[in-house]
Amino acid sequence: MRSAAIGAAAVMTGQVWTPEARAAQAAQEAQSPLLGTTLSPDLDAVKRAKGPVMTVLEEFYKVGPGPSSSHTIGPMRITYDFYQRCTNLPSDQLAQATGLKVHLFGSLSATGKGHGTERAALAGLVGKEPATVDPAFLSEMITSPDKTYPVSLGGRTFQLSLSDIVYDAPKGDFPHPNTMTCRLVAGDNVLYELEYYSVGGGFIEWKGYEPPQKGQPKYPYATMKELRAHAEQNNLSIAGVIMANEIAVSGKSEKDINAFLDKIAGAMLATVKSGLSAKDDVLPGPIKLHSKAATVWKRAHEVTYESDRAIALVAACALAASEENARGHIVITAPTGGSAGVMPAIVYALVESKRRMPIEKVRQGLLAGAAIGYLCKHNATLAGAEGGCQSEIGVASAMSAAFIAEVMGASPLVTENAAESALEHHLGMTCDPVAGYVQVPCIERCAFGAVKAWTAFLIATNEIASRHRVDLDTTIKTLADTGRDMSAKYKETSEGGLAANLVLC
Ligand code: SF4
Repeated sequence: MRSAAIGAAAVMTGQVWTPEARAAQAAQEAQSPLLGTTLSPDLDAVKRAKGPVMTVLEEFYKVGPGPSSSHTIGPMRITYDFYQRCTNLPSDQLAQATGLKVHLFGSLSATGKGHGTERAALAGLVGKEPATVDPAFLSEMITSPDKTYPVSLGGRTFQLSLSDIVYDAPKGDFPHPNTMTCRLVAGDNVLYELEYYSVGGGFIEWKGYEPPQKGQPKYPYATMKELRAHAEQNNLSIAGVIMANEIAVSGKSEKDINAFLDKIAGAMLATVKSGLSAKDDVLPGPIKLHSKAATVWKRAHEVTYESDRAIALVAACALAASEENARGHIVITAPTGGSAGVMPAIVYALVESKRRMPIEKVRQGLLAGAAIGYLCKHNATLAGAEGGCQSEIGVASAMSAAFIAEVMGASPLVTENAAESALEHHLGMTCDPVAGYVQVPCIERCAFGAVKAWTAFLIATNEIASRHRVDLDTTIKTLADTGRDMSAKYKETSEGGLAANLVLC
């Protein structure tokens, strides 16, 4: 009630929420049972509801294997982190070790099999990192599930296999719906254990997590209203504000930040290209889903009307990147793996088309897109397991709408309106991946997210901007509220929706 009163008062008075009000809301929400997905108030993701956005680009746009940032990239980062910690343990402790074990809980247990979580977790334990792992290494685990992999610790080598990754309780009172524990064992004895959380978008935390030290943002903001005020008062674009903050918070130079953005843009173009050039195949898993990006792309070039062609080409690009995700190939979280087809489709459509958008513009678009993702992460969630698909495809679509607006030189208000519109029309969207695989509805959903982003941009640039009735902060708050109210079975458990009704034969 208290949080509702704070939120309602803020909306009704049009006042910016104070950090205290947001913190009170975050604390209250952290204590509320989210219909089976209670978040611990100890999680940094919850604590960071207080204060300004501090996320930086390298935390946000991550390159790694599909199909899910929270169920593949996050777990791989977690087990890689655990292995590194183990290497620093005292030698007498390591001398007793006989193996490593990982236990998956909550959504990781409920839908991990369909996401290949056990393969990602094992790959991290044997020293693979998401950005550099060869997808063929992960694919080999499908064809040779009993294969063992040597791991060296403290001068000893032992063999690990998929049997060391345990699908534990899918339901329970966990600090986060994506909880896992990693253990260094000596037979049945646990020598060292750490509990981790894959908190969405490939972000990870662990019990006792302390966020890394960062600089203070030049333009502190926790809402779109505050962000836009900085832009307008300083005659900057949204991208300009984000770049200034990135330099201040990360301590990196503009040159290094641009180099990172170029890498992300290149990876996005590559994932679409790779998906479009793949022959129509049957994607991994029990759905036996045929890929179709290449066919849609080819046929789109043959249609008579340009408007049909434009929509079909954008959809084909999104299908392409999303099918790459389903194949377990390399994708970019923007903001997640499940939604990894949306923004690359937009980047591809603007760069590899007659528009030939230059890289300087693409960088600005990526910065503006990140701003929207940061705000959704800060004030709601990016995890389907917490907020349903509105948090993944909805946020990706909003980021993409902001991307288009920014590269087209729109004002901060138009950029906000475009993002708001795209997010608004994903509100309530549930997460119900059939058989736990990020394929149905996820792949086509990326295509719709990309097309909706373009629609949102077109509406925002053709309406009278000041008359746009709904502001982005209100929609992000609604995203959080709706996610909280959503039945747990629609939060990446595969117990409801299409996952419950589609008959697989
Ligand atoms: S339904 Fe949406 S949120 Fe759920 S796995 Fe698919 S893309 Fe992600």
